[in-house]
Amino acid sequence: TSQENVDEYFSSYNDVTVHELMLKDRPRTLAYKQFFEENREYIVDKVVMDVGSGTGILAMFAAAAGAKKVYAVEASEMAAICKNIVVCNGFEEKIEVINKKVEDVDLVNDEKVDILVSEWMGFYLLHESMLDSVIFARDKFLKPNGIMVPSHANLLIAPVNMDNYYDDHFEYWSNCYGFDLSPMVPAAMATSFREPLITEVSEKQLVAQSDFVTAFDLKTVTVDDVQHLSKSCEFLVNDACTIHGFVTWFNVVFTCLNSDGQSSNESSSIQLLNGEADTQSDPVVSLPITLSTGPSAEATHWKQTVIFLTSALEVEKDSSLPCLVELSQDKDNKRHYNISIDLTGNEDDIEAETNDHPIPCD
Ligand code: SAH
Repeated sequence: TSQENVDEYFSSYNDVTVHELMLKDRPRTLAYKQFFEENREYIVDKVVMDVGSGTGILAMFAAAAGAKKVYAVEASEMAAICKNIVVCNGFEEKIEVINKKVEDVDLVNDEKVDILVSEWMGFYLLHESMLDSVIFARDKFLKPNGIMVPSHANLLIAPVNMDNYYDDHFEYWSNCYGFDLSPMVPAAMATSFREPLITEVSEKQLVAQSDFVTAFDLKTVTVDDVQHLSKSCEFLVNDACTIHGFVTWFNVVFTCLNSDGQSSNESSSIQLLNGEADTQSDPVVSLPITLSTGPSAEATHWKQTVIFLTSALEVEKDSSLPCLVELSQDKDNKRHYNISIDLTGNEDDIEAETNDHPIPCD
């Protein structure tokens, strides 16, 4: 039932090793740290809410940057340890740990916050659907001119060559200690293709430039927007190659500027286009901080997510590969997504349908 899913979800965050994994993910944690350190002028004397504070690390970044008050909301049992951590670091006057689901929180006098920070991103951005809770918190607690941290989130996709994976997991069976075990291949393929694969992909495995599946402005994105995504993508393949599937990853952007280019304190002329700053527009304004989890970025615990096609696709040089990418929250467990990639232009009309949670691998 969905209640069981909810409980299972929060109890997974009682586990110390999960928090250790996240904290040791330096690109992840340092992006938030850098944001608070470099934007003290926006943080000083502000009221902050940290949605899903875990160990309280982001709440402490905010408090150390001068926030007047931080509500650290954590539904799991980690909240008890978080309280001790807050005391241990002398922040008990500033940080208030609330051991509740953010959906059940009420602040005294219907208080609103200036800044809402959260590390809500899952595999392929949306896995776990924690963004729903962040949107709920934004609509209930954030002042109209408040700041979301991070402020933007983008999901990208590119066709990928997985020759190494095919060799390791399928070709492998054709010569096992001198015997041919290739009747194992269909079962091996069925297992591999059932769910997305969380694995590190290198840049040279990408056979075309990536395209955006979505670009969210966290100030305006709605629960409906994240329930079902549908995007036509087109990839230009320069060289003849074999495509085994598609790889997705995300990046999030940290900026105090609203989408109209105005900050809540002062005006500025930086522009955000799909998470990429327009460096030409104003060299004086520093670039926003970006946490990228793509193949060319420093590795993070999210790695990348590969969605296999049920059979490899041979593509000729200079061809275009149009496809329809759809992600929708699973009806039975909304923390999981069904992902489908429909190669619209292809006569075989291959569809990679997947559900359930991804397989964390290597
Ligand atoms: N902010 C911490 C932990 C991030 S992991 C860090 O950056 O290290 C996400 C945390 O959010 C988990 O501890 C999880 O239990 C919590 N969480 C998820 N959904 C929540 C909700 N709706 N209300 C409160 N906490 C939530």
